[in-house]
Amino acid sequence: MNYRHLSLHCDCGEVPERLAEVGFSEDHHLVVHWWCEKCERVVYISKPLTECWLECPGKDHSLDGVLAQWSGEAKEDADAKFLRSIGVAM
Ligand SMILES: [Zn+2]
Repeated sequence: MNYRHLSLHCDCGEVPERLAEVGFSEDHHLVVHWWCEKCERVVYISKPLTECWLECPGKDHSLDGVLAQWSGEAKEDADAKFLRSIGVAM
């Protein structure tokens, strides 16, 4: 399946390790919520479905292409974060 990654983060910069819920609101927004471990609070993100529609990838946008563009530094950060999340000290 071809899709565009939706970047999620709290105001503090923390990226959620897992989402609590994903849904739709009565005013036609995509709603995602999770618990921010750093702030110790529930974080809600909402996005109008019209914006979601506009941001959907075209046929020439493949997930493999997005991953190839992802910088090596970002991958290292993600790897370090993942290792910390499972208790591995670096
Ligand atoms: Zn936070």
